[in-house]
Amino acid sequence: MPKARKQFGQHWLKSEKALNKIVSSAELTERDRVLEIGPGTGILTRQLLTQAEAVVSVEIDRDLCPILVQKFGKNENFLLLQGDFLTIDIDQLLEPFPAFQNPRKVVANIPYNITGPILEKVLGTIAAPNPKPFESIVLLLQKEVALRICANSNSSHYGALSIRVQYLADAEFMCDVPAKAFSPPPKVDSAVIRLKPRAIDNPASDPRKLETLIKLGFSSRRKMLRNNLKSVIETEELNALLEQLNIDSQSRAEDLSVREWIELSNAFVMSTSAHNSH
Ligand code: SAH
Repeated sequence: MPKARKQFGQHWLKSEKALNKIVSSAELTERDRVLEIGPGTGILTRQLLTQAEAVVSVEIDRDLCPILVQKFGKNENFLLLQGDFLTIDIDQLLEPFPAFQNPRKVVANIPYNITGPILEKVLGTIAAPNPKPFESIVLLLQKEVALRICANSNSSHYGALSIRVQYLADAEFMCDVPAKAFSPPPKVDSAVIRLKPRAIDNPASDPRKLETLIKLGFSSRRKMLRNNLKSVIETEELNALLEQLNIDSQSRAEDLSVREWIELSNAFVMSTSAHNSH
């Protein structure tokens, strides 16, 4: 085993059980093309190669690439891209390789230090969703973040991240993975989640506004909405909007479901445009 580098968030998975859960969560068929972020020493890659039509793995660490090529170079369905997943243009790099183009599923044991940017690259954002959404995204990540991504309103883990992700995708918590499943063990526990991007049936009329409201709304968790949103909505106006939506005027950000956040944002946009046209 090559020595794990902290700088790249390297922790080698060694648990068979966790590995099987990741792979089964991806529901692969032999017609699937898979994108893997951070193959490391290839423990997950090896499984993916047996089940998918094609696997494109993106690894930043140059020193791991010869090891991966040695292990899987003979597999015709394996393509290794060396580079930083966050900055490379995958479509462009795949242009010369028709058999690997357009992977629709992501499966990855990601480096925890760049979880947010990875989520943004694969899902996009509320205001700029990925125009070519993946069919599914299975990730092994920090448990705390997994809980936040999958949380429903009124739970202690529910927050801006829950809404940002669930606006774009269904999020499922698949299983816990203890720190000892890795070598070296990370300081935190981990978990597997599955995201299934989908169109939202009641989209935000002004997605940027929704992003702003969520950010402000959760800025101080213990405060009521009317205090956190003071800088953008006067209390009286907010009360009127909340009443119109049948939401308690004493609510905190965590009391509103994703749907209610969208409704609040839309009602706010409507009321400001009504003001402006007077
Ligand atoms: N999948 C392997 C390794 C997981 S550790 C396993 O399960 O054992 C995370 C991996 O992501 C490491 O191989 C690390 O080098 C790689 N990595 C870190 N930052 C990256 C980036 N920006 N782009 C691509 N790979 C990255």
